[in-house]
Amino acid sequence: MILLATGAAILVVAVVVFVAYPLVRPARSILTPGSGQFEELFRRRDRVYVELRELDFDYHVGKIIDDDYLVAREQLEIEAARILQAIDVQMKAIDEEIEREVKRLRETRKVCSSCGAPLALNTRFCPACGEPVKAVARR
Ligand SMILES: [Zn+2]
Repeated sequence: MILLATGAAILVVAVVVFVAYPLVRPARSILTPGSGQFEELFRRRDRVYVELRELDFDYHVGKIIDDDYLVAREQLEIEAARILQAIDVQMKAIDEEIEREVKRLRETRKVCSSCGAPLALNTRFCPACGEPVKAVARR
């Protein structure tokens, strides 16, 4: 009888883990390393900085005349501003994703109001005592 109860308990734990795992598994996100768009923006920014330095050098050694220098420098500055703005947009998107992730993690740390057992996200009933989980407003 005790063996049977232990076997049933192990089965219940196995089923709970199997069902709950997809709910608590971390989602894929743009924070994953090697997100190419971001790296490409930094490469373009560095390239424009190098071009600006080379242009200044060429101007100071007299390889180009005033008018050409001013036109080329303005174009590079506009390009640099566009890239920095794009990086800024990406940074904001990452900040927002971090905030969403923190919010999600806080929500997954909710506990049952009846027994205090930890609750997984989107759980409708407490896995420990079976009480229905009260609805939570979520964006
Ligand atoms: Zn409970």
